[in-house]
Amino acid sequence: MGIIITTTDSIEGARILRYIDILRASVVVGTDIALSDLFAGSSAKYRNKLNMSYDRAMRDLRLKAQACDADAIVGLHTDFEEIFGKGKTRFVVSLVGTAVKLDCPQCDKLETDGNSVSLSLLRRNQLALTLRKKMENADYSPNEEDWNNILTYSLTEIAPQIYERYLSIARETISNMPLSEKKLMLENFIPYLRSMEFEEAADIVYSDITTDPYCTADIIKQCNLFHPNKIASLLEPENKHFIISVLCTDKTKYTKEDLHIMRQIENFLDNLPDTGHYIEGREGLFGKNGTLLVCERGHTSAVELGGHCTESLERGMGICNLNVKGITEAEVAQIKQYKDKLAVLSNLLNCD
Ligand SMILES: [Zn+2]
Repeated sequence: MGIIITTTDSIEGARILRYIDILRASVVVGTDIALSDLFAGSSAKYRNKLNMSYDRAMRDLRLKAQACDADAIVGLHTDFEEIFGKGKTRFVVSLVGTAVKLDCPQCDKLETDGNSVSLSLLRRNQLALTLRKKMENADYSPNEEDWNNILTYSLTEIAPQIYERYLSIARETISNMPLSEKKLMLENFIPYLRSMEFEEAADIVYSDITTDPYCTADIIKQCNLFHPNKIASLLEPENKHFIISVLCTDKTKYTKEDLHIMRQIENFLDNLPDTGHYIEGREGLFGKNGTLLVCERGHTSAVELGGHCTESLERGMGICNLNVKGITEAEVAQIKQYKDKLAVLSNLLNCD
């Protein structure tokens, strides 16, 4: 399979799975005439020489791409540069492009028709099996070579184990793992998820929202995995903080069905049960009589109706900030922003 080389940034019918590296190939051509003469067409001989140099640079670039296991070079750019020195003019032909790995049926050749199996499919599945066995050890995290295979062959079947390991590393609950492998996990996990299909990636991420809700919400944000259906299945008051934290994440395309479900989520947020309550009383010894908020943490503070608790938390954790629904000012702002997004979406989808 030859390397596809193009000046465009994408390739029709193929998806870029991974950006490998920026590649450059330069060929120096010695001559005694100026580049301007050349372009004026004064010398067929030098034009010929230039073409040969261009071809040689192209060949070098192709070899470099093969060496780093690329399927294509995108964004190819050609540069001609004149160099003066020692009474001679030389010029340099430089080609620069980005080597990429593609995800397309023609490139993968990961095939079986029931009667025969391609070698690459056999290799791929062997790698997946080996890696799954390694991952059974709770302290194991993929090393550089593993990651290369995971990304090159889209080893998505081990994604649940990798996600679990990612959460442990992000929470620093794993101790026996080399620092380099933790670093590799933090670098590669997001690109790995992004390379997956939307539903496939969402299945993995939403399978565990309790181990570290904020970390999970961050992944959803970074990978545009806002999934109205999955969020709607979590509409319980105990999940409210997680739900609010993903409200302002996105997905790449919204449908009328999404909007319908997003309104159910809005309705859930509008009807959150009270976790605190109001009492009539006086704050402190010299305060005025009035309405006091007793938040879910049991603090009492004098606030306006709908206001947020002003008590300090222990050990410098800041202000409590919960309102009678048990949510903070920042969360109230996120809900407002979500409502604005719904209004814009309704308008775009003509669903007022
Ligand atoms: Zn409080």
